[in-house]
Amino acid sequence: MCKFCHKKWQCAYISILQSHLANECTDCPEEIQNYWLRFIAAKDSLDDDDSASIASSTDSNKKRKVASND
Ligand SMILES: [Zn+2]
Repeated sequence: MCKFCHKKWQCAYISILQSHLANECTDCPEEIQNYWLRFIAAKDSLDDDDSASIASSTDSNKKRKVASND
């Protein structure tokens, strides 16, 4: 159950509550909303970051090799 707007769920998953607080809850303070928005965004970007950093590091390695061959 949401402690701010008192919405109830039959099956309470923490992720449902998190996204409810971040996106739906009208009674929760902006501070709390921003906290969960950042929390969810950070969790999402963790997966993206891994593949992005691997891709960008191999990309810069290629560029460096090409540059040293010149
Ligand atoms: Zn709520």
